[in-house]
Amino acid sequence: MVDTQLIPRGIRDERVLAAMRKVPRHLFVPEYIRHSAYDDMALPIGEDQTISQPYMVAIMTELLELKGDEKVLEIGTGSGYQAAVLAELAGEVYTIERISELADRAKSKLAEIGYGNAHVIVSDGTKGLEDAAPFDRIIITAAAPKIPDPLIDQLKEGGIIVAPVGERFSQMLIKGRKEKGVLIEEYHTPCVFVPLVGEYGWRG
Ligand code: SAM
Repeated sequence: MVDTQLIPRGIRDERVLAAMRKVPRHLFVPEYIRHSAYDDMALPIGEDQTISQPYMVAIMTELLELKGDEKVLEIGTGSGYQAAVLAELAGEVYTIERISELADRAKSKLAEIGYGNAHVIVSDGTKGLEDAAPFDRIIITAAAPKIPDPLIDQLKEGGIIVAPVGERFSQMLIKGRKEKGVLIEEYHTPCVFVPLVGEYGWRG
């Protein structure tokens, strides 16, 4: 996966590549599709949700510029795979999922593999996580109509947020750096994510 999908597409951060070689992606997908776990695609994880394509996980993680001691907030735990990759690369990871069945499964999986620095919370992630704020990095792994204001408020000055932003069925991957209280945005690759559903996201 790393040699055939990530390096040829330009992922260069050695720490990201090492983390993605290490995290057992097959343990985060349902057993009936485990043989496809390392394929170049998103896969279903139940509840009409998906585990993102490996390349999308890699580029989003690379854009976060993690050095090792950051406090990271992820919105959209899903399978827990992205949280595991983040837990390899950062200090503490808080990950929010709105569907409790997925959150419970991800929580057990992350604990079983030994990611004690990954904390799963069931909530509407569009509101962020005031109790643990501010965050050095925020990653949204569901499609947002715009970056929710509470997440910008909960990002540290100089911090980075990465998110797919746009229409319900097609988005652009955005990286924003908070400077003097506002996000300075860069546009990266087109992408398609399941919707971010919540108070500051899509309705239902
Ligand atoms: N990062 C995940 C992984 O590694 O498997 C994949 C995320 S999946 C593409 C998007 C997830 O975002 C879904 O599990 C969905 O339920 C969740 N989601 C959507 N809206 C949300 C919200 N407001 N708060 C928290 N999670 C949300």
